[in-house]
Amino acid sequence: MPELHHSLHDVYGEVLRRNPGEHEFHQAIREVLTSLESVVSKHPEYADSAVIRRLCEPERQIIFRVPWVDDSGAVQINRGFRVQFNSALGPFKGGLRFHPSVNVGVVKFLSFEQTFKNALTGMPIGGGKGGSDFDPKGRSEAEVMRFCQSFMTELFRHIGEHTDVPAGDIGVGAREIGFLFGQYKRMSNRYESGVLTGKGLNWGGARVRREATGYGTVFFINEMLKTRGQTLDGQRVVVSGSGNVAIYAIEKVQELGGTVVACSDSGGYVVDDKGIDVALLKEIKEVRRERISEYATARGNHVHASSEGSIWNVPCDIAIPSATQNELTAGDAITLTKNGCRLVGEGANMPATPEAIGIFTAAGVAFAPGKAANAGGVATSALEMQQNASRDSWSFEYTEERLSVIMRKIHERCAATADEYGSPGNYIAGANIAGFVQVADAMLALGV
Ligand code: GLU
Repeated sequence: MPELHHSLHDVYGEVLRRNPGEHEFHQAIREVLTSLESVVSKHPEYADSAVIRRLCEPERQIIFRVPWVDDSGAVQINRGFRVQFNSALGPFKGGLRFHPSVNVGVVKFLSFEQTFKNALTGMPIGGGKGGSDFDPKGRSEAEVMRFCQSFMTELFRHIGEHTDVPAGDIGVGAREIGFLFGQYKRMSNRYESGVLTGKGLNWGGARVRREATGYGTVFFINEMLKTRGQTLDGQRVVVSGSGNVAIYAIEKVQELGGTVVACSDSGGYVVDDKGIDVALLKEIKEVRRERISEYATARGNHVHASSEGSIWNVPCDIAIPSATQNELTAGDAITLTKNGCRLVGEGANMPATPEAIGIFTAAGVAFAPGKAANAGGVATSALEMQQNASRDSWSFEYTEERLSVIMRKIHERCAATADEYGSPGNYIAGANIAGFVQVADAMLALGV
């Protein structure tokens, strides 16, 4: 890890002191500060104005108890979080994650990343994130509903269409957003569509929102390929995960002529050399809510299922990590590079470790960070907010076109910013600097 400029080093020291043990948050901060070296040397006013220090401290952090009754009548207690990181550009915006790994450090890293991602979309949205250590796995629909109702009973007082607009993330899809919205409506006595995004299509949701993160990641990768005179046609692709991001990334890769040969869940991965059958994957994951191993059983003998080892051992030209943070390690990066992988686009938030990114960079593997590549999800959430505000509903084709233009612009902006600050081809620097400059300038304009 390179040494930081002294003013950035002090900011980092303050973050470590204030947020002990929050490793993911430290990791995300460190990555951004490293990119800001070239900014503070060119524009010392950012260092002088303390705007970087202010940016590293969330505006508000809410932690609450979520009590609920399970199907056996026992009382369960979970912890709920909402970190409202930065509202310089608009209301806080970002998903809710329900997963046992959720803690304040994870939510803080996600909401910090979200601030830059949301700025990159060019839409008027600030950054936030929330969630709970609640594990939806194995829970009945009635239990999920009671949990969501209890969660919203506290959260409702902190959110609003002009204040903070949550959406889904891991463990939170349209079903959970429905239960959350129902409780918000009950508590507030308002049909305030714009308070949550990722809603169902017949009650205020936007077309393409479900597909947007995965599609957007592939649009971004397509732009990266274009700069190299290539397309997705004929490329062998591995996508980790089999949630909302992965499923629609796989669908779009295959629509554009690539073949996705492997995907995974927390129980293992499957390799299908004929290309993942997306309809079957949706049936297993979205309808039946079963394990990925069921895909192998249903698809036949040519599919290989594994519950051991890493999906990154499967050779590919392009890797799209779309499961969770730090899922792709240095060892995986070495294997991928050795096996000929030339491009990595993050569908998830921070799925590659800093060491893995170092290996990709040294090997000349093109790398797109999640805050740029997966910004299509939240950008389409902002389109959902637009439709709600104007009580309108757009077609699939129109919305997808808007998404593809947004992703093209994010790519252009990251590439141009990386050039301007002396790191051509470095999308991490491009994304961090472009996002930073936009948020920091707004913060400076709004005063301390
Ligand atoms: N959870 C998604 C993300 O990581 C989407 C957030 C949203 O739509 O607000 O960007």
